[in-house]
Amino acid sequence: MDERRNDGRPIDKYILPQLAFEYSALEPHIAGRIMELHHSKHHAGYVRNANETLERLGEARVNENFASVAALENALAFNVSGHVLHTIFWQNLGPNMGGEPMGELAEQIKKDFVSFAIFKKQMIAAASTVMGSGWGALVWEPLAKRLLTVQIYDHQSNVTQGGIPLMVLDAWEHAWYLQYEHRKTDFFEAVWALWNWPDIEKRFAEAKTLTLFSAPTGAEEQAAVS
Ligand code: MN
Repeated sequence: MDERRNDGRPIDKYILPQLAFEYSALEPHIAGRIMELHHSKHHAGYVRNANETLERLGEARVNENFASVAALENALAFNVSGHVLHTIFWQNLGPNMGGEPMGELAEQIKKDFVSFAIFKKQMIAAASTVMGSGWGALVWEPLAKRLLTVQIYDHQSNVTQGGIPLMVLDAWEHAWYLQYEHRKTDFFEAVWALWNWPDIEKRFAEAKTLTLFSAPTGAEEQAAVS
């Protein structure tokens, strides 16, 4: 998504990002074969389908065939969201990681979830109780300025609007079945040895700088009246 043309404009197409580590680097917690299929087949499919859907939306515009827009919007939401979530997920993980967050993120987790241990339980509960396919996620809700866990259906539904994903946990069967079979809770526990907290802390620090959602303060309202 960060690719640019020579003139600095964003490129038209989404691109499958390279991983920062080998497919086998997350073993024994996530098998190399799972990572290979997950990245090179599943994630690649979302990228390909997102690009195809954008092309078809372009054709619909040119032909003024807006009867197809509803179906295309549905496909776009699914595939772009799948691409975004997987891109974050790969960066959220790494070999020799885990432990607990530090600094402001650690403080905010304590403020909003009482403790890291309780946050971990809530995050695992959000992921492991998805009916069908989906994700658990930690998001920054910029209106009230608080962290929330959310349960995302597929890649795009049951989303809390405005929430900025900081940490995402893939609960689709393709993320774990090959290795964990019916023991999916073991996968949701194992992944805690892989969280790249510096990446999640960086996302939190950036998300907090957003002022678009700020409600006016009483003082500003007063100034507008007078
Ligand atoms: Mn996935």
